[in-house]
Amino acid sequence: MKYLKSLLFTAFFGAGLLLSAQTSGDWQQHVDYSMDVEMDVKTYQYQGTQKLVYTNNSPDQLDRVFYHLYYNAFQPGSEMDIRLQNIKDPDKRMMQDGKSRIASLSESEMGYLHAKSLTQDGQSVTFKEEGTILVVDLAKPIPAGGKTTLEMTFEGQVPLQIRRSGRNSSEGVALSMSQWYPKLSEYDFEGWHPNPYIAREFHGVWGDFDVKITLDKDYTVGGSGYLQNPQEIGHGYETPGTKVKTKGKTLTWHFKAPNVHDFMWAADPEYIHDTYEMEDGPTLHFFYKDNPEFNENWKNLQPKTAEAMAFFSNNVGKYPYEQYSVVQGGDGGMEYAMSTLITGERQFGSLVGVMVHEMAHSWFQHVLATNESEHEWMDEGFTSFISSLCMNQIMEQNKQNPFEGSYRGYYALVNSGLEMPQSTHADRYPTNFAYGVSAYSKGSIFLSQLGYIIGQDKLMETIQKYFEDFKFKHPVPNDIKRTAEKVSGMELNWYLTDWTQTTNTIDYGIKSVEANGEGTKVTMERIGEMPMPLDILVVGKDGTQKTYYVPLRMMYGEKDNPYPNLERTVLEDWPWAYPTYEFTLDMPLDNVQAIMIDPSQLMADVNGENNVYQAEE
Ligand SMILES: [Zn+2]
Repeated sequence: MKYLKSLLFTAFFGAGLLLSAQTSGDWQQHVDYSMDVEMDVKTYQYQGTQKLVYTNNSPDQLDRVFYHLYYNAFQPGSEMDIRLQNIKDPDKRMMQDGKSRIASLSESEMGYLHAKSLTQDGQSVTFKEEGTILVVDLAKPIPAGGKTTLEMTFEGQVPLQIRRSGRNSSEGVALSMSQWYPKLSEYDFEGWHPNPYIAREFHGVWGDFDVKITLDKDYTVGGSGYLQNPQEIGHGYETPGTKVKTKGKTLTWHFKAPNVHDFMWAADPEYIHDTYEMEDGPTLHFFYKDNPEFNENWKNLQPKTAEAMAFFSNNVGKYPYEQYSVVQGGDGGMEYAMSTLITGERQFGSLVGVMVHEMAHSWFQHVLATNESEHEWMDEGFTSFISSLCMNQIMEQNKQNPFEGSYRGYYALVNSGLEMPQSTHADRYPTNFAYGVSAYSKGSIFLSQLGYIIGQDKLMETIQKYFEDFKFKHPVPNDIKRTAEKVSGMELNWYLTDWTQTTNTIDYGIKSVEANGEGTKVTMERIGEMPMPLDILVVGKDGTQKTYYVPLRMMYGEKDNPYPNLERTVLEDWPWAYPTYEFTLDMPLDNVQAIMIDPSQLMADVNGENNVYQAEE
């Protein structure tokens, strides 16, 4: 049946997918950070001051606040360390000879981040460290609509690079500084989110960041934020053709990042710093270690980064910042505000692939910013979905199904018996395998399969409306569902609940095909618990093709014909509770060559065997 799939996939995607080109949103807290830090590049210790103006836009009075102190996770005996020692399939990057790398960190190699003093509007407050969280009892409550200023001095030590952040990465990047400062926890309509840092992920409050970083003048710094003093700094930031003279042993870099929920920087004395100007787009910055084996890949990456930026801006929504930086560092790929840290010693395709994925997060994690600890599939999954489409276009992969890998992964998870509902907290999956497939693959399928349900054009319209309506609002699962409902006119609660809150699977089959006078009686069966509408392709022995559409009753609507070149018959709705469904083809059995459920294969039917009927030769 392969030829049928190919044929229809082309028709399907030709139809415009690539070309079309209480919610969470009632109030948002606001933070404005001013920070001044001094880094000792020999001891990897740093001292800082932080002034945080916190605006309480919630309807609640707040008596205490929480900060994240992420670097405390990189200490022997931390929750992250103990989890690593107990999970069945620990992250390989964090292990050495079968043991947790955190467990063996010495005093000078571990990470820490401690508040030394803290005041609220000038009055000192009591605070207590609980692992990676600082609990602060306020001197006076912040009333609804009120504002307060929290001033802190802090000290930190950058851990050896073990996960995401740290010093001396495997590729020799000196400083990958993510999650490095005391970061106020998010308070939203669900309450506080003082999530211990065990493995993943991040959630934050938007605000304006003003950050001054002082360090050895030989180091080049890149990351979030616009450099305010390029003519004092140089390092490739200066106006082309000008010369910058510096005095002293250190430089103080002054960055501003407006309306972000995170601030990352990386520094290395051997970075090459290139900039790439996009027409009608942000300025792109690239920071990578001088390495003759990979320099060409990093040069060729630059126009591809511009293409990806244009792709996402056209297909999701306009990128709202004037800068994006691709920085070599970290331990794989991780998204940050206006930037990413990626490992750089990669083949070209892999380098483009990781850049595309991390850049796509700018839309889903940095501008929409779902809480990725609770709804990881809305971040990693949607990012995977849109980056698969982007790769297919900018790398000219021309895959018939750019999401094939996600479906394969999902089926493997179902067969493993380890699947958990997607509503599971990101830290509390029993295996990293189940987390990964659920967040990335099953999360991506949420959208590709939604396209099957409501139609591809409506899917792209949904994504764009979702971005427009919920940017800077931390959307929750119901928000994407409601958007799809508004765009499609269908009721989709069944889809959200079954797909994301249960491990129900989809299995429809062709039970029997029998002669019925001049026609052919087809009996379908629903074996899985999860409901779906069905597209059915019928191929005659004379080569004719037509489709039948069985809407699901509980969606109270119909999609447009996904195969406009083929005649489509819309059949009666299938009410979910009925295990079987019959319809008649206006074609004698002798003329039927094949019948196939969902030729697009975007419906994640866990048993494809019973989806096809083929006449005996
Ligand atoms: Zn990701």
